[in-house]
Amino acid sequence: MSDMLARGVAFRLKAELPPEAKFLLEDFRLAVNNAIRAGLQARVTSRNALSKLAYKDFRQAHPRMYSQHLVSAFEVAGSVLKNCRRRLRKSGASRVPYVRRLMMKTENQAYKLDREQGVVDLPIRAGCHVKLELQVSDYHHRYLDDPSLTLGSLTLLPDRVIIAFRKDAPSHYVPESALSLDTNERSLDGVFLKSDEARAVKAEFPEIAMIQQRHHDRRKRLRKKKAHDRRTSRRLCRREGIREHHRIECRLHQVANAVLSFAENQKSAIVLEDLKGFKPIRNKELNRRLSLWPRRKLHRIIEYKAQWRGIPVVKVDPRYSSRTCPICGRIQDSRMGAEFECECGWHLDRHVNASLNLLQTAISKGMAGGLRFNPGAFQHDVMMTLYEPAMAARSEPNGTSCMGAVT
Ligand SMILES: [Zn+2]
Repeated sequence: MSDMLARGVAFRLKAELPPEAKFLLEDFRLAVNNAIRAGLQARVTSRNALSKLAYKDFRQAHPRMYSQHLVSAFEVAGSVLKNCRRRLRKSGASRVPYVRRLMMKTENQAYKLDREQGVVDLPIRAGCHVKLELQVSDYHHRYLDDPSLTLGSLTLLPDRVIIAFRKDAPSHYVPESALSLDTNERSLDGVFLKSDEARAVKAEFPEIAMIQQRHHDRRKRLRKKKAHDRRTSRRLCRREGIREHHRIECRLHQVANAVLSFAENQKSAIVLEDLKGFKPIRNKELNRRLSLWPRRKLHRIIEYKAQWRGIPVVKVDPRYSSRTCPICGRIQDSRMGAEFECECGWHLDRHVNASLNLLQTAISKGMAGGLRFNPGAFQHDVMMTLYEPAMAARSEPNGTSCMGAVT
């Protein structure tokens, strides 16, 4: 396992950005947009090709910009162009990309970080550097003080800095137990299996569906109220969307952290359903309500955090998992109510039953170590809570970890 993992950590700045850095942000955006335009005309997307096209002209216009930054600008332009091309292939229509947001990215050779003091030294041009003092909390110290983490790229935004910390992917521990989770709209429902005992577990997040509903209603109302002014309507809706995104993201991280801490303590392998094959349903209303994104996102968060911490994650095909009897293997014709019942006498909460099937699949494929499931050992009357909304108040002292991975 020589995979390199990276995690973006956001730092607020102690003082406002110095004017030199603000100019740099504007120059960087200009360089990116110039390169995008040149790349579109010449139909190229690679950094080197863009650099050949745009370097000379931009150099003449901005003779003093630090050349490493210019190279990163071409790289950012290249990835914007690649995204644009992908969208074009997918939906057939794409606007000419233009970067509005002020941001700049730079590789680790081009900046210095004093990890003890929390100060970034960023070159602007020959003979001109700025020092950016970072606000450092306990959360940040976990990354700054860990000598096994090396530095990756740095992203500068008008109000914060995102630094990528990198490390080799740790090797997984050998699982001594398994935590199998079925992902539903309002909860993760599952089974925890250790030696020869199995019990139901639950991590509930009913707020996420509520947040989605609330923001959906708000946007609908906004669109009606501002029907005469499409620009304002679009702006306000976008703002609502960003807020919704932040709120949900934060909840998802809390749920994932709770699940992972439990798994790590118990040395569990985590079993999840593979959502890849799922196609969205056609009906628009149903589509929105059952939107898969928070679930996919939750899986992605669990997976990358698990990788970072060396927790094994297994993904299995979820087909028939909600309709199969884990004891006799009979497949029921239709979906059932809240309870799964089989002619052989087995009955269990529908969601927990689905996760039991996921676990069985993982075991039969040898993906959960040497574990075995014995139906007689299922503790029907015990339910363990891994997470519930009330726990939100005491976990995660700050929200800066809600950034996701940035490389
Ligand atoms: Zn049965």
